[in-house]
Amino acid sequence: MKNPTSIVLMMLMFGHGPHALAALQRSDIDIEHYDLEMTLSLDGDYAFQNALEGLATIRFRNVGAASIETVPFVLNRLMRYEKVHDGEGRQLHHSHRLQELENFDYFQANVGSVKLAEPLAPGEVTALHLAFSGRLTGYIGAGMLYTKETLDPDFTILRNEVLAWPMLSGPDWQQVRIGWADEFEWVATFDVPATHKVANGERVQLETRSNRNIYRYHSARPGSFMIFPIAPYTELQVGLNRIFHLTGSETGAKRLAGKMQQAIELFEGWFGPIRSSSGLSLSIIEIPAGYGSQARFPTIIQTADAFNSADEMEQLYHELSHLWQVDMYAPMSPRLEEGLSTFLQSYVDEKLGGSKSLKAFMEEVLDLQKLTYEKNPSYRNIAIADFGREGLTRLSYGVGALFYYELFKVLGERGFLALLRGFYESYREVGADFDTLVEYYRDHTHGEAAKVIEVWLIGTAFTDKILSG
Ligand SMILES: [Zn+2]
Repeated sequence: MKNPTSIVLMMLMFGHGPHALAALQRSDIDIEHYDLEMTLSLDGDYAFQNALEGLATIRFRNVGAASIETVPFVLNRLMRYEKVHDGEGRQLHHSHRLQELENFDYFQANVGSVKLAEPLAPGEVTALHLAFSGRLTGYIGAGMLYTKETLDPDFTILRNEVLAWPMLSGPDWQQVRIGWADEFEWVATFDVPATHKVANGERVQLETRSNRNIYRYHSARPGSFMIFPIAPYTELQVGLNRIFHLTGSETGAKRLAGKMQQAIELFEGWFGPIRSSSGLSLSIIEIPAGYGSQARFPTIIQTADAFNSADEMEQLYHELSHLWQVDMYAPMSPRLEEGLSTFLQSYVDEKLGGSKSLKAFMEEVLDLQKLTYEKNPSYRNIAIADFGREGLTRLSYGVGALFYYELFKVLGERGFLALLRGFYESYREVGADFDTLVEYYRDHTHGEAAKVIEVWLIGTAFTDKILSG
């Protein structure tokens, strides 16, 4: 029977009301397990002659309030989705197109959408198998200058930032970033030519089959950050730790191994054992200059500079220091921890007999920062708290280092290290955002130190200090 009331009801049930149109939020999905399998051909002399094929099996739960009918994915712009199946082996319809992501100008990704065989109700779990293939490219053109990766046989790297595997997210950089905070168990298997090694800090099983190496890494604890450099590496075992170095860096790797042990002892003395340490070793992996060093326990990727020159060892200390820091990966975070690592890299370097003093290093930082503010007067109106929202986290390296140097001078070594250790011990398991850090520092300082915190971390008064410094 059709009467006006039932027609209205029909429209409510099937119409495109605001609920049906709302895009799925990444926070509505909780990944429980990610299994990645990838085969790379790296036999061609040129990157374009090489290709990869992959299969991603992702098990996830709907933790939102509404049923999920389609699941969005993003993938590197030189890769294709081949086929998608669900846990029951049913092939699912998927669509995809090249698209610029929201909140990241010029960053194009292969944006996919998979229609589930039946809607996934809130609280329910399902699994998807996504086959994909293609080549790999970085995002220098979009402004991510360190992502120089291609499938170069001399060196390549698979990492989150360039969407080197399917990532469950809508076409929005902010949603992608939110996804990185989702921690899950993972297994990653790579089939590469026997000439190549796949490096990472996690536990690994290696199988050699005719002229192929098969590396199977698995997470020892839930995490999301996966980064896998691949090259004809040489591996060096140093105590519990591993160093992967590129051809020609053997001397540098041995020097680095010694300094690494000394630096770890310093950090452990100051801040206690490393986060989540369970007898697991660290891996320090050499990457070519310009590819961007990064640290995420138990993996450090370190540019060749620290391997090739004793004077660049402070770069290693910078990365190591990140391992004793609270996770502050909230989207739009100002990344003040980069300032702390910049300060600590020089502080440790001075302690371990580096050629440049902390004072001289900080004078250089100050000069550079002055220049930045003189060239860009509008930056003077931006508080540290807003660096992330303004896309200026790069300012945190210098400004943050200057802030921590001021704090160090008024607190003295003991007071300074005690403040850092206290914050680390309080938040290392749960992470913190910038406001939590400011609150903690305020609660644990008084007098001159409290003043330093107000001047630098609240408002923009710190810019006057830099310009008149
Ligand atoms: Zn850093």
